[in-house]
Amino acid sequence: TIRVRFAPSPTGPLHIGGLRTALFNYLFAKKHGGEFILRIEDTDQNRFVDGAENYIIEALNWCGIPFDEGPGKEGTVGPYRQSERKAMYKAYAMELIENGNAYYAFDTPERLDFHRKDHEEKGKTFIYNWHNRLKLNNSLSLTQEEVQSKLDAGEDYVIRFKSPQDEELILQDIIRGKITIDTNILDDKILFKSDGMPTYHLANIVDDHLMNISHVIRGEEWLPSLALHTLLYKAFGWTAPKFAHLPLIMKPVGKGKLSKRDGEKGGFPVFPLTWNESEGYREAGFFPEAVVNFLALLGWNPGTEQEIFSLDELIQSFSLERVNKSGARFDPEKNKWYNQQWLQRKSDEDLADLFLKELSKKENPIEASKDYVQKVIYLIKGRASFVSDFWELGDYFFEAPTEYNEKAVKKQWKEDTPQIMDQVLSILENIDDFSSAIIEEKVKAWIAEQELSFGKVMPPLRLVIVGDMKGPHLFDIIELIGKEDSIGRIKNAIS
Ligand code: GLU
Repeated sequence: TIRVRFAPSPTGPLHIGGLRTALFNYLFAKKHGGEFILRIEDTDQNRFVDGAENYIIEALNWCGIPFDEGPGKEGTVGPYRQSERKAMYKAYAMELIENGNAYYAFDTPERLDFHRKDHEEKGKTFIYNWHNRLKLNNSLSLTQEEVQSKLDAGEDYVIRFKSPQDEELILQDIIRGKITIDTNILDDKILFKSDGMPTYHLANIVDDHLMNISHVIRGEEWLPSLALHTLLYKAFGWTAPKFAHLPLIMKPVGKGKLSKRDGEKGGFPVFPLTWNESEGYREAGFFPEAVVNFLALLGWNPGTEQEIFSLDELIQSFSLERVNKSGARFDPEKNKWYNQQWLQRKSDEDLADLFLKELSKKENPIEASKDYVQKVIYLIKGRASFVSDFWELGDYFFEAPTEYNEKAVKKQWKEDTPQIMDQVLSILENIDDFSSAIIEEKVKAWIAEQELSFGKVMPPLRLVIVGDMKGPHLFDIIELIGKEDSIGRIKNAIS
């Protein structure tokens, strides 16, 4: 069975890149009828941030990609927070010491710093590996008695992985294919510390194994760890899961990967939900469908021209084979386009609920019936990307204009306009069936009869009703705001 996991460290809010990793894991799991697991990698207590785990869970739920097993949703392989699994890791580190794949090291930070600097001065990089191992303070350079007395004395230690010398390691990645690595460039990574905590590498491998993870799908920044992870599976004698490293998400412009600062500079969210000062997609008015849609296409392509995908369609179409190797450019303008597309797919009723909420929160709250708001939305939504655009696009449906676009007034308001408007007013007064088609018919018949031009009537009439030259079909507006209001607006303008 397919089992995948999203394994964030709760060190802050979920970045949009992290959410994409979660989404790809979810899509892959659901496509194959598998399970999607959330594991919280909180072994580094120094970087732990309160509230981050809740944020992550809320973000996944908001996107509609909930996990099957994780904190608060116990399966059979929990607990799902590494801090709660702490007690089990040491035995695995010891197993590797016993089978000769790991060793104790007692180097002080000062000593390691000294070696690093010394190498630097000679223009070399210091690697803690077979080349330097015997010069350093570890169990490979000490007698067994010396090691034991250090441990007995309670000296600080770490347990390091013993990376192999002169081997050519072949790594497999579903997206990148075969990668060959010379093991001599690997350092002996720390697996366990004397404070009783495993490092990311050990805890990650042990947990993926114990949780029966079949596929590890994660960001490209973890590709450099693939060699060590592959070696660790071998050292334990376990079958490794399959790996897929997702391409980086690149800045909207220029080179390099997307960072939080790009968002701050560019004024677009880089988090799914708001976190402290940084605005999230949810609060910026994005629909989860739009976020899921644009995230899916950041690094994956369906092989067709199709751009709009529901979550279900994504599950159907998704495959790791169609994930690109090269970085995916983050495009805030395109993200807005996705939201616009999804807004058009929402029912007027759902949109009315959302818009009513905004109207009631205004400084001068607007009261309107849901039925009315729905009709307004039907007329204006074509131009909207966000629910918050509705006010800008259709404020005049709720409030008569108190001022008129100056430029338009200069252009459209002629000496005879008040008199023409006065006549339009009496036409409106005499219409009983106040519907767009009838109003249009009557006004147009009168224009023809008077041998007036449309330009003398329609633009100023729009100005009077809307306050500006914007808006949908004018007679639809007049029908919707109603006879009384329309007449009032004309009177207002010519009095
Ligand atoms: N805890 C790691 C992270 O924060 C997990 C990396 C992995 O998926 O192996 O991204």
